[in-house]
Amino acid sequence: MSHEAFYRITYGLYVVGSGDGDRMNGFVSNTVFQVTASPARFAVACNKDNFTCELIRQSGVYSISVLQQEARADLIGLFGYKSGRTVFKYETVSYRTGRTGAPVLLEDTLAWFECRVVQTIDVGTHMLFVGEVVESGVLPCSEPPLTYAYYREVKKGKSPKNAPTFISSPEPERAEPVRASLPKYSCAICGHTYDPAAGDPDSGIPPGTLFEDLPVDWCCPVCGAAKSEFSRDS
Ligand code: FE
Repeated sequence: MSHEAFYRITYGLYVVGSGDGDRMNGFVSNTVFQVTASPARFAVACNKDNFTCELIRQSGVYSISVLQQEARADLIGLFGYKSGRTVFKYETVSYRTGRTGAPVLLEDTLAWFECRVVQTIDVGTHMLFVGEVVESGVLPCSEPPLTYAYYREVKKGKSPKNAPTFISSPEPERAEPVRASLPKYSCAICGHTYDPAAGDPDSGIPPGTLFEDLPVDWCCPVCGAAKSEFSRDS
């Protein structure tokens, strides 16, 4: 089996949210797809271990926020790599409670949908929730939607372990231009690699900054892990 073949499939990236009024949570999903047009229905795959999976099963509703291409890394880190069982993810972001009761993320979002579950399919590690669209809208944003390919290749993101597309073998390395051999460091939590040649411009770290010279309070731009969670690549 070729793992590389799996990387030829294209996906978008979304924040799928659910809640019952008291509790709410959301996670980054790349497996959101429209399955029928009339009535308009989507399918969303959700790992059974995810808190959001539990909430969708209980509430029977979910929201989909379509992320824009330049969505903030810390937003993706918050929704993609933190557990809603320990962090209230909506505390620091802009959202509203939708008609269905599901939270709709409004930051870095191009468009949103609210769905009511009409079919639930157990597919092993994940549940597939087919939902009928009950509300949708667009938000003013000129950026294109974020694709999984852009996230991997430009933003250097990796799949969280609960993603249906997570592959436990090392992801194939992309060809990179030859650079000075400055040591790279990778995050133990999310796999993000700090490349000194690129720096971390979003955090004001200029290209050429060695990992050792990063401020002590610097943290992973993807998942927010502390600098101490990084180890040198072999
Ligand atoms: Fe990380």
